[in-house]
Amino acid sequence: MKQIKNTMPIYFIIMALSMACSNEMEEMDMEETSTEYDISALLTKFEGTGLSYEIRGDNVIFTTQDLPNHTSPYWPTSNPLYSEYSGNNPAYNKNPNTIASQNIVLTIPLYPSEASFHQSTPLGAIGVSRNGVVFYNQYAGPDQPLTNEIDSFDQWAGHPQMRGEYHYHIEPTYLTSEFGNDAFLGLLSDGFPVYGPVENGHTITNDDLDAYHGHFSITEDFPEGIYHYHISSEDPYLNGSGYFGTPGSITK
Ligand SMILES: [Zn+2]
Ligand SMILES: [Zn+2]
Repeated sequence: MKQIKNTMPIYFIIMALSMACSNEMEEMDMEETSTEYDISALLTKFEGTGLSYEIRGDNVIFTTQDLPNHTSPYWPTSNPLYSEYSGNNPAYNKNPNTIASQNIVLTIPLYPSEASFHQSTPLGAIGVSRNGVVFYNQYAGPDQPLTNEIDSFDQWAGHPQMRGEYHYHIEPTYLTSEFGNDAFLGLLSDGFPVYGPVENGHTITNDDLDAYHGHFSITEDFPEGIYHYHISSEDPYLNGSGYFGTPGSITK
């Protein structure tokens, strides 16, 4: 009897020690590797004019002609999608450019994770929306706010630049009217998804988001949760001070 009584506490001490060790190991693993997400479930949502994609290794390669699948006063008048401006901005001021077919190739990681160094977004394309139109950031030029450019946005909040490259800086209202204002809208080139301005009935403001204009939460497509960006109605609209993950490449 005495012998059993003596061995019991030692047994428990060993148990406790080994549990403490394994907890420590788990915590170390959590700190050393940042979460990797899998965005392949989103790919079938991409559908647009002259838009295709293929998976190559750990990347998805999008090739897009960057042609909106909706009306715009920026189409050549001979195009069936040409229409006059029908938005509600009294200061609307059409720019001199016309939509032209592009050949943009975006190589985007399928398994994005947070970068240890957050790169700022460049001028020009920074991602692709689900209809193949590219996303631009919150600047009209180097450190120039969008202030004046906004007046040239068409009824679906896009416009073409000098070479006819059509793009969205702010909420692509054709997509939110089509799929819902809480819907998946596209990807930035770091592989993280972009969602509309509403989540669970709540209109997202900058206060809900981090410096990159995103946050981690559950979305319709990711019941386990994922880091994602939101397009909101206030500057910086889509991306804040850079990519959350490591961007892939965009070539023209
Ligand atoms: Zn622009
Ligand atoms: Zn969210």
